[in-house]
Amino acid sequence: MNNKFKAIVLNQSGDKFSREIKTLDDSFFKTGDVLVKVDYSGLNYKDALILKNGARLVKEYPHIPGVDFSGKVIESNNKDFKINDEVILTGARVGEIYPGGYSQLVKVKSELLVKKPEKITNKNAMILGTAGFTSLMCAFAIKAREELLLGEKIKDVLVTGATGGVGSIAVMVLSKFGYNVTAMTGKKDKSDFLKKLGAKNIIERKDYEGDSKLLGKGLWDGVVDTVGGNVLANAISQTRSNGIVAACGNAGDIKLNTSVMPFIIRGVKLWGIDSVAISKKRREFIWSQVMDYVDFKLLEQNIRTVNLEELLKIFPEMLNGKISGRVLVDPNK
Ligand code: NDP
Repeated sequence: MNNKFKAIVLNQSGDKFSREIKTLDDSFFKTGDVLVKVDYSGLNYKDALILKNGARLVKEYPHIPGVDFSGKVIESNNKDFKINDEVILTGARVGEIYPGGYSQLVKVKSELLVKKPEKITNKNAMILGTAGFTSLMCAFAIKAREELLLGEKIKDVLVTGATGGVGSIAVMVLSKFGYNVTAMTGKKDKSDFLKKLGAKNIIERKDYEGDSKLLGKGLWDGVVDTVGGNVLANAISQTRSNGIVAACGNAGDIKLNTSVMPFIIRGVKLWGIDSVAISKKRREFIWSQVMDYVDFKLLEQNIRTVNLEELLKIFPEMLNGKISGRVLVDPNK
């Protein structure tokens, strides 16, 4: 069928990089066996980088960005997906090397899709999106100390970049686990928002941007770090014996200047988190846990919903650390 649809299209020719909203048809899609009508997508840090200049992640132009989406199947050549099935996609290099979710329609390989859990809506799914999915991965990594490694109970945890998409949802999930959550932020004026999500204490990012000690005072049993650089180095040096540091982001810095001391004296574990290249089984597991640990009513109080035109105007705010909570993208608005 020849479906027409609206999408953000990125293009590059020589030094010229452009982003436009265009009307396309199905012939745009070169791969994929399932066609999805997109209900929602989200704005993630990686999306903002790609919208800026392709971030060396996009290999072919013209390209439709958007690393995640939720929607309904409208055509399928795969027996596991039927028309009207509600589906979610996060990561899996969609929006980078495959066409993404900033579009009214997207065609993808069925193995990348997850069926939406019944108890959540397509809107809920993208209120979480890649950011929330990553937060859950980080939270489960920390929980591994008590569950997988059969170590001591987790008491105190730190979340950095706490007002961001990943950080804010990590604060919520870790507090639902019953942990005592300290939120580190550069936005002191967002303390009330962080406390509502479950943070017990708020600390200021600026106090953790200097060089770290070899071993600081042990304060954390677990850390979710979205910032990188000295903030991560300080968090590692302040982690208690056998604590787990889930490192997922680089919103502040890609470098990490640390020493072996926290690892060999305290057995600290640095656990890298990648939400892109993970098995379908694990994706399904993470989505199956959502209802237990996420309060959507609370998250809804701090989301902004934008259409494709508005998205093109606001994405730079994310690169300047100005956004708090999640930005939902509704391509049909
Ligand atoms: P957001 O932009 O929503 O949040 C980032 C937060 O980091 C900001 O709100 C800010 O919070 C803090 N921050 C600290 N220093 C800076 C800085 N120099 N510039 C901007 N922000 C800064 O992004 P996301 O939550 O979507 O993503 C966070 C990080 O996690 C990104 O690096 C992203 O690439 C990564 N990520 C990784 C994934 C993976 O699979 N590994 C998946 C998803 C995201 P505050 O003011 O509260 O300190």
